Amino acid sequence: MTTVRGARRPENPPTSGIIAMEDAHTSGLYTKRSLVITRGEGATVWDSEGRAYVDCVGGQGSANLGHGNTAVAAALADQARTLASCTELFYNDRRAELYGVLAGILPRSLERVFLCNSGTEAVEGALKFARAATKRPGVVATMRGFHGKTMGALSATWGPEYRDLFGPLVPGFAHVPFNKPESLDAAITKDTAAFIVELVQGEGGVRPATREFIDEAARLCRQRGALFIVDEVQTGFGRTGTMFALEQYGVEPDLLCLAKSIAGGVPMGAIAFSAAIGDLPKRSHSTTFGGNPLACAAAIAALGEMARLDLPRSARERGRQLQDGLRAIRSDRVREVRGLGLLVGVELKENAGAALKALQDEGVLALGAGPTVVRYLPPLVITADQVDRVLAASAKALA
Ligand SMILES: *Cc1c(COP(=O)(O)O)cnc(C)c1O
Repeated sequence: MTTVRGARRPENPPTSGIIAMEDAHTSGLYTKRSLVITRGEGATVWDSEGRAYVDCVGGQGSANLGHGNTAVAAALADQARTLASCTELFYNDRRAELYGVLAGILPRSLERVFLCNSGTEAVEGALKFARAATKRPGVVATMRGFHGKTMGALSATWGPEYRDLFGPLVPGFAHVPFNKPESLDAAITKDTAAFIVELVQGEGGVRPATREFIDEAARLCRQRGALFIVDEVQTGFGRTGTMFALEQYGVEPDLLCLAKSIAGGVPMGAIAFSAAIGDLPKRSHSTTFGGNPLACAAAIAALGEMARLDLPRSARERGRQLQDGLRAIRSDRVREVRGLGLLVGVELKENAGAALKALQDEGVLALGAGPTVVRYLPPLVITADQVDRVLAASAKALA
């Protein structure tokens, strides 16, 4: 078995050179911290100066399994030597195996899967499938919802800061207030192809949906022939304390969007869908890289490791420790602590920038979720000791 653990480059270019090179050529679309991350193991990452951090950014949700997982690394290396490219023009052993693994963890009604390469693509496809299946144009999404940034997904995303430059967006989309069940009756109509929702809004500020809101949306979709799409791109794969947050809400959607941690950090997305979608016309949707053996091999290994390590349980236990600890911090700057499992947000009464910088100075990397929320999204392999370190750093940073 090949491993890549501990493969540290003998000679790294100096930090300033790396930053200058990126600054010279980057798209400029990202706000970057002047930190060069070069290595990771579990829930720890190291910068180019050798400083260690507890990683509560977690690849923005793509590193649930932790960094440097040797089973994923070995599966990738092995598959890269065997067969990396094989489109869905053919059958493939790894792809078949992954379908089987997914069937074992998904709700039984979601019997079919379309494999793609990112979260926005999973949403994009789900919206297309819903329109094709219902022959209706309308999509109802939620305020503060985030579903990605390609044109179709962006039309479901709410944030004006993402949308305003790029109009006209796809017609037929409406946004209802999140967690206001009374707003759904007028919005979901006989022209609605689908209602799309996150069970915990991630980018929108770490806001768990209420049972009442989800139940009412599901009920109205059934009653009016609209499809129910759940976007678990961020909440999936153990993050909230169950394999999918769906299990805690007791709903069975018609379409489920997945990505981020599905393949242990390797880019992959998926749409799982039920028989309600019917048969989609051949070639009406496809993607070259979808279901490629390399990503499939990584996903099989990653899902195997998630089960072996019982990551949903870790998310429950470490999530409780983190949330309880954050709630115990006495600070006039904190408005509220929210979360589900290890998707945790601290809403401040001020912009979150200063707190994020203070956390970084204390050796903890966290991310924002909207202007005033500090979001913790660590790998689910984070240890109890590491959570204690995050709490000590947070007590200082939020004091
Ligand atoms: C990150 C995210 C997306 C978009 O995924 P990308 O891979 O960045 O395109 C969509 N939906 C949710 C809920 C997300 O958190």
